Amino acid sequence: MSAPFDIAIVGGGIMGCATALRLADGGMTAVILDQGDLGQGASGVNAGTLSLQIKRVALMPYALRGHREWQAMGDAVGFHRTGGYTLAFTADEAALLQERQALKAAAGAPISFVSPNELFTHEPHLARKVAAASFCAEDGYANASLTGAYYRARLSAAGVPYRERQEVRDISRTQGTYDLVTPGGTIRARRILLAAGAWLRPLASHLGVDLPVRARVNTVSVTERQPPLLGSVIGHATGLLTMKQKPNGTLLIGGGWQGAGQPQDGRGQVRMDTLRPNLALAQHVVPALAKARILRSWTGFEANVPDFYPLAGSLPGLEDAFVLGCVRGGYTIGPYIGKLMGDLILGRELELPLFDPGRDFERTDP
Ligand SMILES: Cc1cc2nc3c(=O)[nH]c(=O)nc-3n(C[C@H](O)[C@H](O)[C@H](O)COP(=O)(O)OP(=O)(O)OC[C@H]3O[C@@H](n4cnc5c(N)ncnc54)[C@H](O)[C@@H]3O)c2cc1C
Repeated sequence: MSAPFDIAIVGGGIMGCATALRLADGGMTAVILDQGDLGQGASGVNAGTLSLQIKRVALMPYALRGHREWQAMGDAVGFHRTGGYTLAFTADEAALLQERQALKAAAGAPISFVSPNELFTHEPHLARKVAAASFCAEDGYANASLTGAYYRARLSAAGVPYRERQEVRDISRTQGTYDLVTPGGTIRARRILLAAGAWLRPLASHLGVDLPVRARVNTVSVTERQPPLLGSVIGHATGLLTMKQKPNGTLLIGGGWQGAGQPQDGRGQVRMDTLRPNLALAQHVVPALAKARILRSWTGFEANVPDFYPLAGSLPGLEDAFVLGCVRGGYTIGPYIGKLMGDLILGRELELPLFDPGRDFERTDP
């Protein structure tokens, strides 16, 4: 029987892949197992928005460092630092925006408010009814559909094997080694990292751990190519809209509107009753979209736990078992928090604290 890996990572999304690269850098032998292809989960279907303006205040230090990682990844992931505006259209929305952005600016995000004149000079196609607008020069986007290809190349260069279409169907521990049952055979490893996104709960149950992971079914749409309409990433004060125009002229429209379906059933479905108001809001913000046709709408599963903070640390009650997932804005933060997770597993000092998966999830904060 071959020697066990130092670590087996279940889940080849951004969390699993970013951690694997850090571990390989630290000299560990790692293997990644994915039930499908690398980056086929949330990491490959998300809206790609990298915005400090829509991050939770407590996650700002992670998001700021995440932005640096994306900048370094550059063209290979379709990174564009366009700057971003978040818009309010009513007095209530403007008050909400002022309150939220002040907290984020205090947490280190370079967010400021701009006058309507300044806004319309840069974005002349926005509706004129804007009541307030905040700006962050750091904001931008990447192309989520490049995630799998990017990490395949990086992992190969780092000598990390990845095994696709290898669903982990059972996990047990004998004599200090984890045995992971896959269709291609049993993989043995001294440590294990669960990075299975919205599928974390059934996976952790193999180890007798109940993680309160739930899934949201976010919807994203893409338009046909349009003449130049937007130069920056656009958000709405309520968080119900994100929008950007790609270099090929298409516009990507998101905002967390919910589709239907469950992770265990494979794919989610778009719901017309949530898609319509999502697109209506986009058209309200950019009136010229009235003439645009939607090419495709799709959904993806985004995991969270009741307090909406990440799961990132050791699995309670188990030796050498770790979990990473449920990060809000996880695409933005993923490349950085994956490094931190790698440092934890390597026994290194952490630059920022992680998020104990054994905590009391019912505790809330502002
Ligand atoms: C539609 C949508 C839009 C989003 N938009 C944004 C955005 O604009 N900006 C942003 O920052 N964040 C966004 N997010 C959030 C972000 O995409 C996620 O937080 C992040 O990608 C999660 O990464 P992950 O690696 O934890 O999970 P995933 O990418 O889902 O990866 C988990 C992997 O585990 C594999 N797996 C599961 N079970 C098993 C098993 N038993 N055996 C083997 N493999 C298994 C899956 O196949 C999958 O590849 C969005 C999410 C969605 C769904």
